[in-house]
Amino acid sequence: MAELEAFRAEAAEWLDANAPQAIRSLRLHAELGGNWGGRHPLWEAPEMETWLRVCADKGWTAPTWPGEYGGGDLSNAEAKVLEQERKRLQLPEPLTGFGLSMIGPTLLRFGSEAQKQEHLPKIVRGEIRWCQGYSEPEAGSDLASLQARAERDGDDFLINGTKVWTSYGDLSDWIFALVRTNSAVKKQAGISFILIDMETPGVSVRPIKLISGKSPFCEAHFENVRVPLANVLGEIDGGWTVAKALLGHERSMIADVFGAGGGARGRRATLAEQAREVLGGTPGEPLPDALLRDRIAQNEMDMKAFHLTLQRSRDAAKAGQQPGSESSIFKVWATEANQRRTELAMQIAGPQALGWEGAGFDEAELDCTRAWLRARGNSIEGGTSEVQLNIIAKHVLGLPD
Ligand SMILES: Cc1cc2nc3c(=O)[nH]c(=O)nc-3n(C[C@H](O)[C@H](O)[C@H](O)COP(=O)(O)OP(=O)(O)OC[C@H]3O[C@@H](n4cnc5c(N)ncnc54)[C@H](O)[C@@H]3O)c2cc1C
Repeated sequence: MAELEAFRAEAAEWLDANAPQAIRSLRLHAELGGNWGGRHPLWEAPEMETWLRVCADKGWTAPTWPGEYGGGDLSNAEAKVLEQERKRLQLPEPLTGFGLSMIGPTLLRFGSEAQKQEHLPKIVRGEIRWCQGYSEPEAGSDLASLQARAERDGDDFLINGTKVWTSYGDLSDWIFALVRTNSAVKKQAGISFILIDMETPGVSVRPIKLISGKSPFCEAHFENVRVPLANVLGEIDGGWTVAKALLGHERSMIADVFGAGGGARGRRATLAEQAREVLGGTPGEPLPDALLRDRIAQNEMDMKAFHLTLQRSRDAAKAGQQPGSESSIFKVWATEANQRRTELAMQIAGPQALGWEGAGFDEAELDCTRAWLRARGNSIEGGTSEVQLNIIAKHVLGLPD
């Protein structure tokens, strides 16, 4: 305990000494805002670049990853303390994205030494941005029906097919994709998990516009894309196991982001703050509308209880333990709670929530509307709520089919 407290003091001192002044209390505006890195990075403030660099040098963009791959070699307990101190000092995360949250942990578990050496340090430093190529036009919930195929040609695969709903495909440098390498066996047994540089000839990406007005989605096409066999993660035809393990990380990440109100709060910190601003009332006094007050309090308590439960489950996890089917419980709860939360924010905003653009609406109001629309996808992405409930029934509760 004393060691952990010594680490707390050391971490706080380091963060305070190294965080650029301009990023302190910076409110990140973009959905899942922050540093996503990549070959063509977008910085919310120029000092975010410095913040990423100093943290990466220290290994604190991936605090628990092994030092040999650029990580911080911290224990889970130390990483938790580091995060607490970062939040206390109101510092943004130095790096975010699918490299850290999805493919990195999967590489640590399934990657060859060469694959780890090649990819993990670049993820830690935010040099490569990753996207996910799972879904296809005819393979969503029934993912194993995917048809993008990889045919062997010497030491390479030639890949042909289409992936859809590829989040940030147009901003990403590499994609981790599922491809069919064997059609003669049960569908799950003929899939491989492969890593593809998006700059390879034959890869093209087309953005898809959403009801939220943004285009975070893409369709990714592969036409005779030549990828070395060495880019297969795990065994050839053994990709289904790798794919499912990654989904555990994805669902945990979604629960983390949306359970914390990510993408829902717009430019305001809490629903109570929004209500006070929109509905007025005397500062220091309770909000006059008792019904609304009750609903806001319930929502805040639900979110807080969820956060504590998530934290307890993390604390109880053994070092290096992978998220299992239980991640589906967190995913369903967090995303549906986020939908309730954005719905309530719309009700507080009243007619001002009808804004789409134009002088009659301020940025917080427009954010509120767009966050509500964006949240519709929460119960679809990473596997729909219905599919999560099936997983929970079968693999957590052990109910019969
Ligand atoms: C915001 C967002 C981001 C995404 N990002 C990515 C990404 O980066 N990469 C990627 O590969 N994919 C991504 N997806 C796609 C996502 O994984 C799929 O949309 C999802 O798996 C559902 O597939 P589908 O859209 O084909 O719906 P379908 O599978 O066609 O489902 C239609 C409806 O049928 C229900 N249903 C289907 N099967 C069952 C069943 N067995 N039992 C009960 N109900 C069932 C579903 O719950 C749903 O309501 C994203 C989706 C969203 C919304």
